[in-house]
Amino acid sequence: MSDIGFLNGRFMPLEQAMIPVEDRGFQFGDGVYEVLRTYRGVPYQLEAHLARLERSAQAIGLSMPYRVPEWREFVKEGIRLGGHDESKVYIQVTRGVAPRDHAFPAAASSTVVMTIRAMKPLSQVLRETGVGVIMMEDLRWGRCDIKSVNLLPNVMAKQRAQEAGAFEAIFVRDGLVTEGAVSNVMVVRGGVLATAPEGERILSGVTRSVVLALARQEGVTVQEQAVSLEELRRADEVFLTGTTVEILAVVRLGGAPIGTGRPGELTGLLSARFRASLG
Ligand code: PLP
Repeated sequence: MSDIGFLNGRFMPLEQAMIPVEDRGFQFGDGVYEVLRTYRGVPYQLEAHLARLERSAQAIGLSMPYRVPEWREFVKEGIRLGGHDESKVYIQVTRGVAPRDHAFPAAASSTVVMTIRAMKPLSQVLRETGVGVIMMEDLRWGRCDIKSVNLLPNVMAKQRAQEAGAFEAIFVRDGLVTEGAVSNVMVVRGGVLATAPEGERILSGVTRSVVLALARQEGVTVQEQAVSLEELRRADEVFLTGTTVEILAVVRLGGAPIGTGRPGELTGLLSARFRASLG
């Protein structure tokens, strides 16, 4: 088992993967990324992640060096070379290396990086007891639907959460809940599941789509509608969704309990259905 790096078509031990100082991803955050994971060694929702990578790249006018079938093969080969029980695959595409100038370079080819590491499961205790979150004003830019590598607000928010002894920071913009620093946020009240609608204010999570589909299959009313901070506070249940968190109950908001202060019933049901859907 080893951590694997991939740089512009070549696999290597991760510590050997290096990019030049003038890479635009490094200097401008001029790039997009994806994170995906395996279950039983198989990349989960690979097509959805690759489609979102293409959408993100297109939104910033970045030409993709590989088509989907090539990506698919590279991802699978990286997972095979890593040999981990379960892998976490990070993919990043930047506008490449060029003398520093804000406008797009006339002739630079994109830089493609992948890392393949062991996927460490979240602690069972957190899964069973749920987690605390803090609120943060959403100071990010207006295109949060693009999975860009500009993550400074998310980094600051996660750090603030950690310092407060919380697991995640939930962003609020104009009094409305957008999403977490690394997750989407779902709110249950009176048996209805609500979450921020797709659009430029949130990343359309792959896990979000899976969980909403599972909820609908269970006959749950789903509202893809803005949720206010007040509604979040008064919710019966709140949970996070995301590739790394999967479905994770939120039981405290800024120190105050949510609902009973324990993971809720619908959260438990959807977690069970999600597990079962993994085969
Ligand atoms: N929102 C943000 C800001 C994220 O960074 C992530 C995951 O990285 C998500 C939501 C969840 O997306 P996904 O379920 O595709 O992992």
